[in-house]
Amino acid sequence: MYDINKVRADFPILSRTVYGKPLVYLDNAATTQKPREVVDAIVNEYYSVNANVHRGVHFLSQQATDLHEEAREKVRSFINAKSTNEIIFTRGTTEGLNLVCSSFTEEFMEPGDEVIVSVMEHHSNIVPWQLQAAKKGIAIRVIPMNDKGELLLDEYKKLFTEKTKIVSVTQVSNVLGTINPVKEMIRIAHQHGVPVMVDGAQSTPHFKVDMQDMDCDFFAFSGHKMYGPTGVGVLYGKESWLDKLPPYQGGGEMIESVSFEKTVFEKLPFKFEAGTPDYVATNGLAKAIDYITRLGMDNIAAHESELTKYCMQEMQKIDGMRIFGQSAYKDAVVSFLVGDIHHLDMGTLLDRLGIAVRTGHHCAQPLMISLGIQGTVRASFGLYNTKEEIDVLIAGIKRVSKMF
Ligand code: PLP
Repeated sequence: MYDINKVRADFPILSRTVYGKPLVYLDNAATTQKPREVVDAIVNEYYSVNANVHRGVHFLSQQATDLHEEAREKVRSFINAKSTNEIIFTRGTTEGLNLVCSSFTEEFMEPGDEVIVSVMEHHSNIVPWQLQAAKKGIAIRVIPMNDKGELLLDEYKKLFTEKTKIVSVTQVSNVLGTINPVKEMIRIAHQHGVPVMVDGAQSTPHFKVDMQDMDCDFFAFSGHKMYGPTGVGVLYGKESWLDKLPPYQGGGEMIESVSFEKTVFEKLPFKFEAGTPDYVATNGLAKAIDYITRLGMDNIAAHESELTKYCMQEMQKIDGMRIFGQSAYKDAVVSFLVGDIHHLDMGTLLDRLGIAVRTGHHCAQPLMISLGIQGTVRASFGLYNTKEEIDVLIAGIKRVSKMF
């Protein structure tokens, strides 16, 4: 384990107050706070290196390019991809999912072909497919779940037809916290010759992910949810698939040569990186990876698992408590409602006590519909949260409940 007090001191924002109360930040599934060394790297790069990458012969441009490409290697090693050709920098999970959805559908799907998603997807893994459904007439098939919030693998197996062209599922639900058995789901899809895209937005911050072990075909995640900067994310894709997909956007950086008659696209990974990348953010992301790697992904996972279990155990003692997501395979997210208190009222009153939680549908409205609710209150944990903060949350929920 690590020294939690030392860790907290690395995050200046954690020592601020809101409404005169110490901040209890439990909205980590939405975004995480940044350690000083990530922010310092960003500031230092702007102050002493800044220049556009790849095209310059001058010193600064080469230095900025080195930082940017070192970040790509860092990401490769972090997720154990085979090659940096498989690491595409994006704006975030949403862009990675959209890229694959758009390019894959264009190249490999005909009207009537099917994509399999799950009932617990974030909108960013639903709406892009719906856009393609409207454009190209593809169909969306949905894996259902049980009362604990676990996907039904038998039902999943039944969804495959000769029209199934791709599966796109989240590794961890941002509402239920369920850790889906993606490795097994990928194995099943591959038996049908179908590739799988995994949404890793809620897994990469919490436990080790390994592309070669998981054997997924595409994997998308966001820097800002794993202690890195906003505006940068990663799309991993097996080289064999990325080679076959058409570019997502056109512009500078992604071409080898252009004439009015013909454009030759760049090699991987640049074929998918049109325009100036956020090279300062990629360097910031590399520093975030350094930070969490130093703490140890296994230590982070163990710490957060303890927090989640403690929170569940204490919450269950509260009268009228309903927790959504009761799987034994559960990550650092606890969604709940108490009696008939509206989630917005609970969230607003907790905020007045200095506790930052998220309320609403969490960009998963189809999941809310299947649960028969409009929204939940969601507490989500990061590597710097403490049991004492959960005590504050529990006391806060009890206090709000008494008021109603
Ligand atoms: N997928 C999941 C499971 C998420 O939780 C989120 C964000 O909350 C996203 C995708 C979208 O991430 P971003 O907004 O960083 O692109």
